[in-house]
Amino acid sequence: MKERLSVIQDDITRQHVDAIVNAANNSLLGGGGVDGAIHRAAGPELLAECRGLHGCKTGEAKITKGYRLPAKWVIHTAGPVWQRGNNNEDQLLASCYRNSLKLAVLNEVKTIAFPSISTGVYRFPVARAAEIAINEIQIFLAADDSIEKVIMVCFDETTFRYYREAVDRRILES
Ligand code: ADP
Repeated sequence: MKERLSVIQDDITRQHVDAIVNAANNSLLGGGGVDGAIHRAAGPELLAECRGLHGCKTGEAKITKGYRLPAKWVIHTAGPVWQRGNNNEDQLLASCYRNSLKLAVLNEVKTIAFPSISTGVYRFPVARAAEIAINEIQIFLAADDSIEKVIMVCFDETTFRYYREAVDRRILES
């Protein structure tokens, strides 16, 4: 399992993979953080295609082309806003990873990069988000053999450490 999932510290817009995942908002009409970076790197055609998608419910995912990005596809998913954990945030975050991976398989994606969904402006605690993300990805990969590589792309070092630790813990436990 280890070789199909890696954690790196980098900018997701620079990844040469079949698909990158965007931590979008419900409107899909662009925002700050990783969403803003992806739209800047992809160019205005991305926003034009997103306008035709009519938004995305929290926990769900939609796909567009990658335009000027090295990635062929962008999978947009709307993560939950952290509200003290009483609003189904854990399950909704897990759905983001699961539904993004399902959409990837439907589009014959072999390599995919995720950002740390919901842990920026949406304030989801990073340690908790990392556990959920790594758990969902590993469960998915165990049941699917079409995806060859999943890369968790963390922007800052603190985030990187939490995801790295979540992977190391699971390897030790297995
Ligand atoms: P959300 O609204 O889902 O919380 P944010 O974009 O605010 O999304 O933050 C999610 C994570 O994405 C944060 O860890 C943030 O540091 C990170 N991030 C921001 N820009 C990039 C980038 N270019 N590549 C990868 N991760 C990024």
